[in-house]
Amino acid sequence: MKKILIGVLLLISFVLVGCSGGITTEDNSGTDNLTFPATVKGRVLSGAGDMLTAGIIITYPNGDMERVNTNILSGYTLYLEEGEYTLTFSRGMDYSTKSVTINVENYKTYYIDDVRLNQLYDGASMGWYLGALHQHTSFSDGKQGVEDVLVSNISSGLHFGYLTDHNTAAGLAEWVQGSRLVSEFDSAGNPIYFVAMRGVEITTDYGHFQSLGVGNVLEQADINPIKGDVPIDEIREIAQEIVRSGAISTINHPFATSVLGFNYWDLAGDFDGIEIWNGLYPTNRNENAKARDKWFELLEEYRAGNLKFLPATCGADNHDITGYYKAAYADRSTDDKAYKDDYLRRGVYNNMPSLAVYVDGELTEEKIHNAILNGNSYLTNGPRIIAAIEGMIYGETYALGQETFVDINLDLFSQDEILELRIIKNGEIIETIVPMLDGYRYQNTIRIDNVSLGDWFVIEIIGDYTAYAITNPIFLG
Ligand SMILES: [Zn+2]
Repeated sequence: MKKILIGVLLLISFVLVGCSGGITTEDNSGTDNLTFPATVKGRVLSGAGDMLTAGIIITYPNGDMERVNTNILSGYTLYLEEGEYTLTFSRGMDYSTKSVTINVENYKTYYIDDVRLNQLYDGASMGWYLGALHQHTSFSDGKQGVEDVLVSNISSGLHFGYLTDHNTAAGLAEWVQGSRLVSEFDSAGNPIYFVAMRGVEITTDYGHFQSLGVGNVLEQADINPIKGDVPIDEIREIAQEIVRSGAISTINHPFATSVLGFNYWDLAGDFDGIEIWNGLYPTNRNENAKARDKWFELLEEYRAGNLKFLPATCGADNHDITGYYKAAYADRSTDDKAYKDDYLRRGVYNNMPSLAVYVDGELTEEKIHNAILNGNSYLTNGPRIIAAIEGMIYGETYALGQETFVDINLDLFSQDEILELRIIKNGEIIETIVPMLDGYRYQNTIRIDNVSLGDWFVIEIIGDYTAYAITNPIFLG
């Protein structure tokens, strides 16, 4: 009944607008020096029929690919030159994708039937939410504005996101309005609001540092981000000011080449965390692998009682939400091209990797903050992995009694084939499993013998090509 009423109201308002003379229509079909592209319209819905802000990967007639979004109400209008296109609709790692091939002619408008994407994994219902910790808009060196990046976050299936432009808080007043947007509807049909959080990437000559939760640290502290005589003091000042102001401080992409890296590991304890996965490459590849290995070392320092626990974080470091790829990229001629191509193929570009955090009850800024700080999280570009020892999850400590073994419960979801699930104890791989996915799911309990107080366990998921995840540790205490 309600739907019919709305339909009637829309019809009336349409007629009124049509009669008001407020719209001018121009017929250009007779001119030959102008090209009017085809118009393609439609919308994307969840399996339950709710609006679903989604990504659309357009494959052009020449093979080029570009990712755009539906609007926030899940509708889209595309203007395309004549030719055959494939439109692939996606909603991040937890939903099915759907491809539609369409041949269009200029001057014509095409309405595509509603596209329905099914939710294959409902992380939120188990308290696991996905978010972005590192991204840029045109307020610094990003290509798009705040609204575009917000919609892109939601269309990638994220529930929260920090905006972290370089050394500026200018975009944040607009960004935080994103908390009024619905990211998803839960299984009962209730809205889950997106949580848009403030941040800034403090960019200096001796490293980049995240201030997650507060965007105007620089203004408050009068920090000089240019290399001083004594960088050690400057870095410590930055780390401490971030924490004093109530934010989370992380060391970003510590092994990035050129001036972006970080070389002052004696100061690690002044920070709250370390970004071991920055951008495209999983942490078993290139400079991110070095960051992971360094993080394992720091966890061993913690086990020895010499350092506090530093949780791992990740960041897409996104500067462009379109992920525009030339047809030539499909040849996978370089690692970089192949990785981008594969992310698109999997329908998960962009905002990957993202951080999955565990939150008890309603999703709030404070709970997200605490989950990141305590390491109740894992890093992923697709595979969803929950591991627990007697209910203790990442960042938590299982109280070991007299027993010399523990049972680790594993719950894995992935739309991509998984080659290996590794259980890592104190930095060493102690068990490798080849999980056979059954309906995208693998559940098992693995007994680990010869355990002792202080041990820590990390799970690493190596998927088909780019699919990858790594967790924060579960401790024995
Ligand atoms: Zn950045």
